[in-house]
Amino acid sequence: MKTEKAKVLVLGAGPGGYAAAFYAADLGMEVTLVDDGASPGGVCLNRGCIPSKTLLHLARLVDDTRAAGEFGMQFGAPQMDLAKLREWRTAVADRLTSGIADMAKTRKVKWVKGRGRFGGPNSLLVEAPDGEQVDYRFESAIVATGSLPAAPPGLAGSASRIWDSTTALALPEIPRKLLVVGGGYIGLELGSVYAALGSAVTVVEMTAGLLPGADPDLVRPLAQRLAGKFEAILLSSKVTKLEETAASVRVTIEGAEGSPAAREFDRVLVAVGRKPNTRDLGLERAGVTLTGAGFIRTDKQCRTSMPGIFAIGDAAGQPMLAHKAAHEARVAVEVATNRNSTFEPKAIPAVVFTDPEVAWCGLTETQAKASGIAYKSVRFPWSASGRAMSLGRTEGVTKLIVEPETERILGVGITGYGAGELISEGVLAIEAGLTASNLAKTIHPHPTLSETLMEAAEVFLGFSTHFYRPKR
Ligand code: NAD
Repeated sequence: MKTEKAKVLVLGAGPGGYAAAFYAADLGMEVTLVDDGASPGGVCLNRGCIPSKTLLHLARLVDDTRAAGEFGMQFGAPQMDLAKLREWRTAVADRLTSGIADMAKTRKVKWVKGRGRFGGPNSLLVEAPDGEQVDYRFESAIVATGSLPAAPPGLAGSASRIWDSTTALALPEIPRKLLVVGGGYIGLELGSVYAALGSAVTVVEMTAGLLPGADPDLVRPLAQRLAGKFEAILLSSKVTKLEETAASVRVTIEGAEGSPAAREFDRVLVAVGRKPNTRDLGLERAGVTLTGAGFIRTDKQCRTSMPGIFAIGDAAGQPMLAHKAAHEARVAVEVATNRNSTFEPKAIPAVVFTDPEVAWCGLTETQAKASGIAYKSVRFPWSASGRAMSLGRTEGVTKLIVEPETERILGVGITGYGAGELISEGVLAIEAGLTASNLAKTIHPHPTLSETLMEAAEVFLGFSTHFYRPKR
């Protein structure tokens, strides 16, 4: 077998891996980037964040034109050209992935296409698509292999009927009746896409509410809107069995809204979480240990149990979010190149790109209550925002979790049109240790939805201009 030397070797070219490879190259390192995908970008660019946001944009167009009827502007029913929609979705991803490939070339990152498995603590065996094997002897390695859809027993079946997110994003068809198992990020985002495209969507969620990680008051406006778009939302209910018949999928639902009789759907999307992609990588041969949940065990410097091997992104633990991976990439590269660095964010934003979007960062109210931290939560309803009114979208809310004594912002939650863009101000406020007064005194442009952050801070201070609360 051929042997090659690699100073910094990165396994996996998703948003964590390519960020690590590019940064290491920018710091003057010689970098080899290994990935077995047809194009770089990992799940995020090829079959995750980007394709789903492209389809969600189309869903928003459908919903917005429908809503315009209320304001006196009628559009006809949308004519769907599924082949063209697929082409558009693919073109967006292709443009991005070819940009990543070009940037790798410009930075002289050696891009190796093939499946990598560790042969030992300093060796990665890479098998190219043509079967050729090369043993890369590395000085440092960064594992960024991401995650895969979880498919619990009982929820598996033929890919044409029982979909995971990858199949659903390929837009194979628009089913008449679609069941979505799981009311988390993927279930609600892709459920929204298919509902806008014309499917009758039923969501089944095991817990008592949608998006179990988010505060219930932030989820409420979304749940209300989705109730009008989806055929049904069944909470505290669990899908326990899927059986394929000649024409449909027979689904057993247990729990509060389950029924003794199985229900029939044309297609089922299983979105019950993702699992770290850490199996069959030879990690045990490299001396890299895993947690009970299958994540690579790492410290705050992204070091694994084996010196010289680092791990970042979904493979290294929750939250499984691309932006967390990209930031860990910086830390891993800095530590690997003997720089002092630690991954200690005060806030990692979470955004669910539904309509309305739900976004939060820092401490949630649920966490604050559970941990007994002293806090005060304040809410600025978007019904008091001129900008929200001009958009016809007053269902939103902006919420701050504030430390009463210091007035420091501990958490921010926003539900509403464009909340995913607005949340960054909250992340910055928490990272910078800003107070409610800092936010309130910062001049925000009028009329914008960003003013709701300033006014929420004013609610905390007791003098919001547009939202009056009698003194207690
Ligand atoms: P998730 O953890 O967000 O949601 C899964 C849901 O399925 C949970 O609410 C869970 O209670 C429910 N569930 C589990 N088993 C069930 C059963 N048998 N019947 C009914 N409900 C069941 O997972 P996901 O939506 O698959 O997404 C996986 C991860 O991918 C997310 O946690 C997130 O990290 C990432 N992601 C992020 C984004 C984004 O940033 N916008 C989008 C998509 C995915």
